[in-house]
Amino acid sequence: MYSSIQYAEVQSVEPLSPTLLRVHLTGGTLHAFEPNGATDAYINARFLPAGSPVTVPFTPEDVEQAGPEHRPRPRRFTIRRWDPGTQTLSIDFVVHGDVGYAGAWAQRAKPGDRLQFDGPGGSYRPSPTADWHLLAGDESALGAIGASLEALQPEARALAFVVVDGEANEIELPSDADVDVRWLHRATADDPESLLVDAIAGAAFPAGRFDVFVHGEAAEVRAVRRHLASERGVDLSTASISPYWRRTFTDEDWRRVKRQWMAEQLLDA
Ligand SMILES: Cc1cc2nc3c(=O)[nH]c(=O)nc-3n(C[C@H](O)[C@H](O)[C@H](O)COP(=O)(O)OP(=O)(O)OC[C@H]3O[C@@H](n4cnc5c(N)ncnc54)[C@H](O)[C@@H]3O)c2cc1C
Repeated sequence: MYSSIQYAEVQSVEPLSPTLLRVHLTGGTLHAFEPNGATDAYINARFLPAGSPVTVPFTPEDVEQAGPEHRPRPRRFTIRRWDPGTQTLSIDFVVHGDVGYAGAWAQRAKPGDRLQFDGPGGSYRPSPTADWHLLAGDESALGAIGASLEALQPEARALAFVVVDGEANEIELPSDADVDVRWLHRATADDPESLLVDAIAGAAFPAGRFDVFVHGEAAEVRAVRRHLASERGVDLSTASISPYWRRTFTDEDWRRVKRQWMAEQLLDA
């Protein structure tokens, strides 16, 4: 897990919306960072609880000595952009109140703060042979959706559905391609949990073969997965669909039940 320690320092924090902060990281071990080419590439970052005597970079022995209450909490975050020229790693963090570790860390982050991580993992990249691309999720997937749209060639076409609180939470998603982004506002929705699947189910899809990227809140993703398989004939073995987080669950609680959730989801379709 700690075979090669990687870490970086906060260079700056860029507010993108009232609930999204882009944190730019430089220095540390980034001179040796090896990107994997995926547009959903993610790192497994380790957030230290307040008051922890552990400092970055740390070893498993450091953590053991500090005791369980001070152990770093692992959280996965998508690389929105890796700039090899400046060796800068940028990550879009959802801030969701003063709960948990990662969102709260981003909210407090200031230049010089350090973050230790493993990775990158991830494997999706828009298929160059697809006629068009379907992308969907909530704010937590905006890093991957944004990186995917940015990677598209000018002749490519994409349809994206993104759930955010309201209009103030919509952000720029630059792309050279023909992109139609449908922003969905949970604050004014009758049923925020079915907003994503209802919008996708009600949409007229462009003609041709499409590839699929759907990530975000577990129940929302699961409903979309079921719809795509049963109503749109999507071959799930070729689709990139997975739950990033679960409403009301901390990441630790979610990981405890995720395996069973995934097994039950397989029975949907
Ligand atoms: C591969 C992968 C990539 C990911 N990429 C990103 C990314 O780029 N940006 C990003 O922000 N998240 C991303 N996530 C999701 C992120 O890891 C989780 O949201 C994580 O739970 C946040 O940790 P926390 O310590 O802030 O909150 P936790 O301690 O896990 O949870 C505390 C409370 O906050 C709630 N909560 C957690 N996340 C959210 C949210 N997004 N919105 C509202 N409430 C929330 C929980 O349900 C819980 O009630 C990714 C997840 C995966 C698996």
